[in-house]
Amino acid sequence: MASPTRKPIRRRPAARSLASPVSECRGIGPRIAFLLSKLEIRSIEDLLSHFPRSYLDRRNVIPISSVETLSAAVIIGEIGRVRALRARRLHIIECTVHDDTGSIKAVWFNQPYLLKKLLRGSKAILSGTVGCRNKIQIENPDIEILKGGGRDFLHTLGIIPVYPLTEGIGQKTLRRLVRSALDDFLEDIPETLPHGLLQWQSLPPRKDAFRSIHFPHDEDELKQARKRIAFEEFAALQVNLLYKINQAASHGISFCARPLLTGLLKDRLPFSLTAAQADAVDKIFRRMESSRQMNVLLQGDVGSGKTAVAIYAMLKAVENSRQAALMAPTEILAEQHFTQVQRLVEGFDVPVFLLSAGRPALEKKEAVAFISSGKPCLVIGTHALIGHNVPLADLGLAIVDEQHRFGVNQRIALADKGVSPDLIVMTATPIPRTLALTLYSEFETILLDEVPAGRSFVKTVLVAEENRRPMLKFLQKQLQEGRQAFVVCPHIGAASGVDVEAANIKGALALYTKAFPDYVLAPLHGKMDLEERMRILDRFRSGQIQILVTTTIIEVGVDIPNASVIIIEGADKFGLTQLHQLRGRVGRSMHKSYCFLIADAATEQARQRLHFLESSTNGFQIAERDLQMRGPGEFLGTAQSGRLRLRVGHLVRDMDLLREARQQMMAILEADPFLELPQNEVLKSMLTSRSKKVPL
Ligand code: ADP
Ligand code: MG
Repeated sequence: MASPTRKPIRRRPAARSLASPVSECRGIGPRIAFLLSKLEIRSIEDLLSHFPRSYLDRRNVIPISSVETLSAAVIIGEIGRVRALRARRLHIIECTVHDDTGSIKAVWFNQPYLLKKLLRGSKAILSGTVGCRNKIQIENPDIEILKGGGRDFLHTLGIIPVYPLTEGIGQKTLRRLVRSALDDFLEDIPETLPHGLLQWQSLPPRKDAFRSIHFPHDEDELKQARKRIAFEEFAALQVNLLYKINQAASHGISFCARPLLTGLLKDRLPFSLTAAQADAVDKIFRRMESSRQMNVLLQGDVGSGKTAVAIYAMLKAVENSRQAALMAPTEILAEQHFTQVQRLVEGFDVPVFLLSAGRPALEKKEAVAFISSGKPCLVIGTHALIGHNVPLADLGLAIVDEQHRFGVNQRIALADKGVSPDLIVMTATPIPRTLALTLYSEFETILLDEVPAGRSFVKTVLVAEENRRPMLKFLQKQLQEGRQAFVVCPHIGAASGVDVEAANIKGALALYTKAFPDYVLAPLHGKMDLEERMRILDRFRSGQIQILVTTTIIEVGVDIPNASVIIIEGADKFGLTQLHQLRGRVGRSMHKSYCFLIADAATEQARQRLHFLESSTNGFQIAERDLQMRGPGEFLGTAQSGRLRLRVGHLVRDMDLLREARQQMMAILEADPFLELPQNEVLKSMLTSRSKKVPL
């Protein structure tokens, strides 16, 4: 096996650093810099962190006589006769290559520029696949010419990196750029893990790991490099979380126990709290009263009654003369919360405001004016709440509903409006343990593990197209009994180039209108303006509309207790957790409820996945399954995975490494909560700016 030698490190101007724009690298002009930006590569550091997605094993040079068809081969030989031909539109270059054992033809299609490289008599390495046309030949091989003494082979010999690409930049260019950046900047790559930890875990230093992950000498070196980088990624997550927890411990609001309003709420609610709700309220009150900043993840399956718990907490903030804010992911949901809260606090002399994009400007202006006065009030809204024109200076409590629909940064932005406010994030999407360890480890989970009495589980059935008729019959019966139904259409589908969502809705609306001529049907989707959406939803809530043909905009939160049937068209287009959420729109009252999943075009695998929903109503199981099948990125969606900039580490596959990193970081931050010891100094470079900022 040939061992490539490395180029010596070159001198370079001192002013450039890893943070410099990538255009400061050798060989990168404005055009390449622009193309690289499409790969999210902007700085030199980004380029060095653009890790290969796979590798080609081109270590094994074989004698030409033993080259076999349909294999990948690496050969070294002398270039013989070279010919350039044209056949129809093809540029073809052919040459013979021989070594002591024999000769073989090499062929390239449409790479005319190679011609000047192929000098008769020069020695070259060729790597490519071997095909057969009359005789065996090596086709479109990568080629590098051997010149003089030692040379480094980027493309043909060794373990060769294969990078994620974008149009306009090829593998060879990227390999060259990464290599030259490594040559110039390797020594600048800072260590981020304490020396002692590296030794303890037998991990290579960071710069070695960077070199090896791009250009490994062997599998073992590559494995160690990947382990090191994954470990560091996990450690970075943990350091940030733990650091924040330590900060929270020393700053927080101590609310007093003075049940002025919270004491009255009980008589206002149309139901009595479940034991789980009462317990959650109790726990949250105790944490609000402590001087620690509260970070609670209120987790309860769809319909478990999280809103009531949230309202208790908000009133507690208000009776302590503070402001409380509740942020919901959709305008529909925000409006729903607003109406409910307004009704509940009527006569309490507590102003309630709704802030969302669709509200009239004047109303918003008045709300903002009141809010900036700092007087106690309840503010409910969408992400409009985190806009800079909304001053929530006296925010004592921030609540994020359906928090999985928000990005981590949005959650932080809301809390940042106040000075260390207490924070509750609520979700019905159960968080698999792996993710809980990373995304939510600064949160204490409070579980609503009970749904209000009298509810039975939603019967779920996978319906094949030929069973549509009986299903419609069944729906007819439900409608006759006075119930209502949702029909949900996917926003992706077979049609392309047109507005698929609109097309799907239109199709379904026609279909169901034909089947139910005696009932009122209406469409509801995100493209309608808010007023219209609210009007339709109100009519649905009050029973004037019986069938709502809609999209996933009703996925979260919408609460129409009289609806007992949900039909999900194209169910295979949705993730399991999403289906579970959608299913949660029914089964919110005493009425027995049904969920029909229509997935005619589904593959066998998709069917299996859907069958799982028939048998399981356990949100945890469903989420775990979803995570396994779709991976964390898909599972979380882009909003959530922002924090998980994991390039190498994998939350499911590398679970053990994640645990190890977590344990190590916990030990370090327990002994040194703010990383003040010299040996832990390096870890500080992993803190994101948000963690570094110590609130007053
Ligand atoms: P989620 O946890 O999904 O946000 P909601 O807070 O929207 O659930 O509550 C679901 C439904 O259950 C609502 O109609 C709500 O009024 C009702 N509800 C909440 N708590 C109770 C309870 N303790 N008893 C009966 N109904 C309740
Ligand atoms: Mg809810």
